[in-house]
Amino acid sequence: MVDSYGRALDYLRLSITDRCNLRCLYCMPKDGVEWKSHDAILSFEEILTSCRILANRGIRKIKITGGEFLVRKDAVNLIRKIKAVPGIEELSVTTNGLLLEPCLEELAAVPLSGINISLNTLSAQTFRRISGYDKPGYPAAVLQSIEHARSLGIPVKINCVPLKNININELVDIAALAEKTVDAVRFIELMPIGCAAKMESMQAEDIRAILEQHYGKLQRVKKNIGNGPAVYYSAAGFSGTIGMINAMTEGFCETCNRLRLTPEGLLKPCLSSDMTLDLRSLLRSGASDEYISKCIEEIIARKPAGHSFSGIYGNVKKNHTDKDMFRIGG
Ligand code: SAM
Ligand code: SF4
Repeated sequence: MVDSYGRALDYLRLSITDRCNLRCLYCMPKDGVEWKSHDAILSFEEILTSCRILANRGIRKIKITGGEFLVRKDAVNLIRKIKAVPGIEELSVTTNGLLLEPCLEELAAVPLSGINISLNTLSAQTFRRISGYDKPGYPAAVLQSIEHARSLGIPVKINCVPLKNININELVDIAALAEKTVDAVRFIELMPIGCAAKMESMQAEDIRAILEQHYGKLQRVKKNIGNGPAVYYSAAGFSGTIGMINAMTEGFCETCNRLRLTPEGLLKPCLSSDMTLDLRSLLRSGASDEYISKCIEEIIARKPAGHSFSGIYGNVKKNHTDKDMFRIGG
């Protein structure tokens, strides 16, 4: 699949649930949200049919996301089946890590090409403040799962969203995990979606300056790492890399290779656009694979050149209070 700007689309971010066991203050409203009913979200069967049709059109890599994908019953079973869809070469997941431990061996056996784990803090108090989760033992238990995943041979990347006045004093320590514990630590510029629309984003160049003060000059890594929009750097003595996802200040749309499918079956060619294709309705109306494939081709042709989070692509800057990252999947 190639869009009208010549970008080849081979990567799907597949959100299998809007539910989550955390309430990260930049993602999910503290008082919760009205969950989609069981019937409103795609069944396993519908997810697999969607993956099959998309794989026929050229999707080769899938990232399972949410909400928190592991709160969906039988998620690992679904993942195994998605991996078996002809054409799918790489399958990875993104998670907050809380429910990972008992599933790790099964996930390693799928096999996964990687796990991205959100870790915004190493402090129990700050973890409670960011995620609203107040059971003891976190994030220590997540760190243990990270080490366990690596011992099983699964590549691990950490995702951290730097938040002004909350976790900035920890960025150096979080980056240190790339020294020998994980394959990469990535810092993501906060995007103005949902709850985050009223928060201030910390800029990548400020994040890099903090890290360079401690680790010295970060060297840009030339070779491509992963399937995503991160720019990677190496630090002296580190076996892993440090990534920056400069969504707001530099953008990542020029090389965008992705589509998104929400739990309710909306196919989104762009994170910030309102344009969607309602795959659930098409599937439930009995539309043929050929017809659905044609509709996918039409929406891809309309994929915009760039996002509208910060105005860097020349489109009107917009705060996306009407969207939810826990539905879109990040
Ligand atoms: N629950 C899983 C997790 O937290 O990793 C997966 C879903 S979460 C929506 C996917 C990613 O989106 C996480 O790394 C999260 O930190 C990030 N995210 C959520 N809201 C964001 C925002 N407004 N700006 C930037 N990243 C965001
Ligand atoms: Fe849940 Fe992930 Fe959103 Fe946090 S960022 S509330 S863990 S979906």
